[in-house]
Amino acid sequence: MTKILSGKEVAAALKEKLAAEVEQFKQKGKTPVLCIVMAGDRPDSAAYIKGAVKRCTDIGIDCLVEKLPEEISQDEFLKVIERLNGDTNVNGILIMRPLPEQISEDVVKYKIAPEKDVDCFNPINVSKVMSGDGDGFAPCTPQAVIEILDHYGIEISGKRTVVIGRSMVVGRPLAMMLLKRNATVTICHTRTKDLAGEAKRAEILIAAAGKARMVTKDMVNDGAVVIDVGINFDENGKMCGDVDFDSVSEIAGQITPVPGGVGSVTSTVLAKHVIEAFKHQQGL
Ligand code: NAD
Repeated sequence: MTKILSGKEVAAALKEKLAAEVEQFKQKGKTPVLCIVMAGDRPDSAAYIKGAVKRCTDIGIDCLVEKLPEEISQDEFLKVIERLNGDTNVNGILIMRPLPEQISEDVVKYKIAPEKDVDCFNPINVSKVMSGDGDGFAPCTPQAVIEILDHYGIEISGKRTVVIGRSMVVGRPLAMMLLKRNATVTICHTRTKDLAGEAKRAEILIAAAGKARMVTKDMVNDGAVVIDVGINFDENGKMCGDVDFDSVSEIAGQITPVPGGVGSVTSTVLAKHVIEAFKHQQGL
């Protein structure tokens, strides 16, 4: 029978560990602080912030939200980032993307201090992920996938692993993180000629394409581990992943649901990164 890999269970275990750690800092009079920067009021960003603030606060992290007007100039936006970089009370900075059109991500990404860049925006952290240097911050979503595999004791080393999607937010860094853990990695994308054939060879199949239920039973190897990163809404407005859960769970060995899978772990990974940043900055 297919085993469900519960993101909620992974997040709960991680939360308990992190909250205990923060409690120890608090006893010494110190609290990790995250600042989330949001320009404008996109509902998807606002929803993400609400979840992230709740999760971080539950763990004991202080959260500040720097809400800036949609029409803020790039110069003014960069001044805010510089101020937060220099603020010793702020340990982690998360900049919500997409940014308003007058602000260039290619400019901003160089400004966020790498040691406070808890979601891997600065190219220094990106290059650390690409080169396998574990010293920086990986992006939270790919790290959430790794946390799930580790929590359930799923061996990565040597496994034929297929990642569908090559974005800089999910697919590409995740492929490099799996490679660092000695998986044999194939990255598939929109130009992949035989997606079903590639996917079917996977012992670990990870879908991060953003296409509702595109991974069907015929694309999955018997007993494969299937991790669904996708967050989509079907024609009835129902949230679903990139994997056709009902049919694929007839054949997969282990599978993450949507909702309740990868997405449940992402904000806890964010909290983990804030705590790591705090410890590094405190010399702990
Ligand atoms: P994106 O659109 O930037 O990238 C999608 C990638 O998938 C591209 O590289 C594209 O080549 C590939 N792709 C798209 N359609 C394909 C197809 N039919 N066949 C093969 N490859 C295909 O998206 P993203 O930002 O990487 O996000 C991917 C999905 O993950 C989305 O559903 C997004 O909502 C979700 N997401 C989830 C979390 C989370 O916390 N769970 C976080 C970020 C993104």
